Amino acid sequence: MTMLKIDNINVYYGAIHALKGISVDVNQGEIVTLIGANGAGKSTTLRTISGLLKPKIGQIIFEGQDIAGMAAQNIVKLGISQVPEGRRVFAHMSVLENLELGAYLRSDTKEIKADMDIVFGRFPRLAERRSQLAGTLSGGEQQMLAMGRALMSRPRILLLDEPSMGLAPLLIKEIFSIIKDINETGTTILLVEQNANMALSIAHKAYVLETGRIILSGSGQELAESEEIRKAYLGG
Ligand code: ATP
Repeated sequence: MTMLKIDNINVYYGAIHALKGISVDVNQGEIVTLIGANGAGKSTTLRTISGLLKPKIGQIIFEGQDIAGMAAQNIVKLGISQVPEGRRVFAHMSVLENLELGAYLRSDTKEIKADMDIVFGRFPRLAERRSQLAGTLSGGEQQMLAMGRALMSRPRILLLDEPSMGLAPLLIKEIFSIIKDINETGTTILLVEQNANMALSIAHKAYVLETGRIILSGSGQELAESEEIRKAYLGG
C-alpha cells in the first residue's frame, strides 16, 4: 500500500529551480532511499515533505491526504518526522530534554514514558548519558540522539537526511543496522544518503537524483548491481 506519494513536485529557492518534477512512491513498511551527488536535491525533497518548503507545482499525498504546503507541525502530528542533516541537537540541553522535546506535540504522558524506554533500549549509549549535555556527545551519539528525538514523536514514517555524514565506518555500520531494526519494528523509512553503498544495501527501493531530477530507480539490489551506478556512485 502506498503510504507517501510524491507526485511531480517542483520546488524553487527564489529563482533557482531546485526540484524539476520529482516523483517518489513509498509503500508502508519499506525503506526507500534517495541517492545522488551533492546538490542533486535530496535534502530539498525531504524539507518539502516535512513542510519547510512548499512546492510550486505537484502534490505530496500522505495516507490519502495532500500535505504539500501544510504547516510543519501539523505534518509531524500526522506521523512524519525528519532527522535533519548535521543532526541539529539542542547542544545546551541534556539528552533527556532533547528526547522530551521530540514528544512536545503529544499529551499521552504514559505512552511518552514507554517510548522513552524504547528509545533508551535501542540506544543504550543515550541511556548511560541521559543527563549529559547534547553538545558534548560524539558525532555518532548525536546522530543517535537526533534519531531518538524523531522517534519520540512516534512517526509512521521517518525521514533521515544523511545519517552517515562525518561518521567513522564502524559507526556508520552501527547506525545502518539500527535503521534496519527501526524499519523491521514497523516504521517506514525514507533515507537520503551520499553513501550509496550503505543505503542500497538496506533499501527495498532506490531513486537516483541528479540536478533536481530522478534519472534512475529500481530495487536496492538492482541499483547496487547496475554498471552505471557502480561507475558513478559506488567507486567502480
Ligand atoms: P547535499 O548533500 O549537499 O545537501 P542535496 O542533494 O541534498 O545535496 P540540496 O541541498 O537539496 O541537495 O540542494 C539542491 C539545490 O538547491 C542545489 O543546487 C542547492 O545549491 C540549492 N539550494 C539548497 N538550499 C538552498 C537555499 N537555502 N537557497 C538557495 N539554494 C539552495
